[in-house]
Amino acid sequence: MYKSRFFLCNFYRFFKSFFEHKEKLEIFEETRYPYLLNHPWEGSMQDALKQILEIQELDIKMIRLMRIKKERLKELDQIEALRKELHQQFKDKEADIAEINKSIRALEAKLSEVAEKLKKLESQQMAIKKVEEFNALTQEMTTTERERISLEQKVADLVDRRTAEEELLEKIRDSMNSSEESSLALEKEIQASITLINEEGSHLKESRAALATDAEPDTLRIYERLLRNKKDRVIVPIENRTCTGCHIALTAQHENVVRKGENLCFCEHCSRVHYWRESEALEGTTVVTKRRRRRVASTT
Ligand SMILES: [Zn+2]
Repeated sequence: MYKSRFFLCNFYRFFKSFFEHKEKLEIFEETRYPYLLNHPWEGSMQDALKQILEIQELDIKMIRLMRIKKERLKELDQIEALRKELHQQFKDKEADIAEINKSIRALEAKLSEVAEKLKKLESQQMAIKKVEEFNALTQEMTTTERERISLEQKVADLVDRRTAEEELLEKIRDSMNSSEESSLALEKEIQASITLINEEGSHLKESRAALATDAEPDTLRIYERLLRNKKDRVIVPIENRTCTGCHIALTAQHENVVRKGENLCFCEHCSRVHYWRESEALEGTTVVTKRRRRRVASTT
């Protein structure tokens, strides 16, 4: 049974790593000869990228949204864990107190036995005539009396301990009640924000699906595969002859090919797709306008 489960687990792991590896290889194949990647829609490469850039902005928003959702779900888990922890503490404390009560009852039973014994010894004392016997009996009574005192002390100590534990139990109960109220409010707030996130997510999904139907399928496929690997923008502009994805300097020759905008150009360091920001075909996309605005703002 265990063996077969182990086998299945390894089998799954093997296939997972195989496909991951295969995917990397495929990207590698495509990025190895960037300039050889000629597409039938050559010449309108920038148009194709323009659509993908719009999709990319939605995907980045979606990635961020999902990260926030994950955080919020984690918060819900933490609240639940805290609640469980407090309940467990309460149960443990109750068990401790029950244990103390049991010990007290046992000690009290012993104490009444000892008191009974003392009474008996006292009554025997009256009837004794011989000095040796009297002395022996007195000795036994002294020992029994000491035992009685020690038992009483033990009971008193346990009662003190029980009082302290009961105070702790009350404190736990208080914090359970107060945290229950505040955590219920917090949970409600988090649930509401998750609902909003889900709504925004489905809007994003719809807009994305609409854009994707018009997008050039090959470019979209390459873009999606890169995005899966990087979970970050993968169609990036060149700035100061540097890849804005990995910030590694590029050659003048590479920059020229990107500027021409005829073929898809991949960064040889990070495999991201490059585009030329000042390209006319990309005018009007959110990315470019945002950038322009920022540049204007910084010069004034
Ligand atoms: Zn790069």
